[in-house]
Amino acid sequence: MQLLNYINGQLVAPQSNTYLDSVNPATGLKINDVPISNEADVEAAINAAQNAFENWSSLTIQQRSIYLTAIANEIENSIQQLALAEVQDNGKTITQATSVDIPRAAENFKFFAQAILEFPEESYTTEKFTNQVLRQPLGVVACISPWNLPLYLFTWKIAPALAAGNCVVAKPSEVTPLTAFLLSKICIKIGLPAGVLNIVHGNGSVTGNALITNTAIKAISFTGSTTVGKHIAQIAAQHLKKVSLELGGKNPAIVFEDCDFDKTVSELVRASFSNQGEICLCSSKLFIQKSIYEKFKIAFVQKVKQLKVGNPLHKETNVGAIVSEVHFNKIINCIAIAKQEGATILCGGTAVQLNGYNKNGFFIAPTVLENLPNNCITNQEEIFGPVITLMPFENEEEAVHLANENQYGLSATIWSNDIEKANRVAAKIDAGVIWINCWLIRDLRTPFGGMKNSGIGREGGNEALRFFTEAKNVASPTPPKEGL
Ligand code: NAP
Ligand code: MG
Repeated sequence: MQLLNYINGQLVAPQSNTYLDSVNPATGLKINDVPISNEADVEAAINAAQNAFENWSSLTIQQRSIYLTAIANEIENSIQQLALAEVQDNGKTITQATSVDIPRAAENFKFFAQAILEFPEESYTTEKFTNQVLRQPLGVVACISPWNLPLYLFTWKIAPALAAGNCVVAKPSEVTPLTAFLLSKICIKIGLPAGVLNIVHGNGSVTGNALITNTAIKAISFTGSTTVGKHIAQIAAQHLKKVSLELGGKNPAIVFEDCDFDKTVSELVRASFSNQGEICLCSSKLFIQKSIYEKFKIAFVQKVKQLKVGNPLHKETNVGAIVSEVHFNKIINCIAIAKQEGATILCGGTAVQLNGYNKNGFFIAPTVLENLPNNCITNQEEIFGPVITLMPFENEEEAVHLANENQYGLSATIWSNDIEKANRVAAKIDAGVIWINCWLIRDLRTPFGGMKNSGIGREGGNEALRFFTEAKNVASPTPPKEGL
């Protein structure tokens, strides 16, 4: 299939008429032609968004909310088609796509359709003066998302931006563009006014760069790697654009001896290997209290070995394909580095060669490492794949130190039945998102984002609506009370 850009309400070919191949990583076969959009395409998308802004931002919030709800409903109606597209593009399992990715994409639109109606209005009144805070849309904003949760993260940005009254130019990852293209069709189907949302395809260095450097873009909401995030922050600084950066992670799990053992083992297998470990929130370093280290290791590795690596379209598959050959090679190289650093491989550690339909796919066995110090490359750099390390700790103080000894601060999990201790540790961990005795629980009203090299700004709920609006304070004399 030849994918097209969505500009000014129309599906259009890139002006250069050049395309790149997108590949199904579970088969190694080409599936789609993806437009390589250049500056002229991005310019056309931004112009369309600018032209649409006056009408879109003048709609009532109820009217905008109706459009968002219609998109959500249509995503729900197309769940099978969208899930299949996500599997083909990304290699994730059909179970993950149908139970997490696509329902959450619909939920993002539903959630912000409601959240904008409830967005609190601020005002401060004294006898003499009243201050009223207006929250006005910024204008045209850019949303740039990665390949790991393609439609989920794409819509997590677009929904609040639109709800707040902005017009959007969005770029999905060139590696997984298919569901973004299908979203264009949904927007056309539900009659979203032309230019309100524009989707340009292409790679980061050309298309992404044209988007972030354009002076008409008032804000950039970006999810991706720390390297690209820092680059975007530098570009944005020159024009004083607002930026929200959701970046990499190296998330610790702290397992205390007084945890609920069986539940902790199975939840941490899930936290480590869901979506092939390609979720920014996956656990990658498991710190286990020394007294239960051996017992935990045996139980954990036994469970990991039961995970089935296979065709992502099969319901019984737990671990699908790695997103691309490039990323597959990166992970295999990380395992080689771990070996050089002296890691003991408890399970996995190699590519998995499947047969038939999947014989040219990119599969890696879930890998558990030990005997590595916390400060080695393997334990400090993000791998973003099915590779984790086990490390022992003595006491609470050491656990906090080890968890914080890293450039990242996205998320952490703490496992203990001593809730007071767990909360004490939570307060000391440098991470924006902490889960105690659970993982990946998301209430969309809560702030989401990382500390340190994991980013700046927070998404979610009112944080996202604040990001996509400009606060304007209007002070005026307080009118005399009636009857006085
Ligand atoms: P990436 O290489 O940083 O790319 C992210 C997006 O930025 C893609 O759409 C990419 O386009 C685009 N891009 C690349 N260079 C650009 C430039 N110079 N200007 C503008 N846009 C540019 O990240 P990725 O490899 O796709 O995703 C994996 C990373 O995302 C990991 O580090 C992971 O931790 C992080 N992540 C973070 C979160 C979070 O919430 N904190 C969530 C998910 C993922 P191309 O695809 O064409 O390169
Ligand atoms: Mg692909």
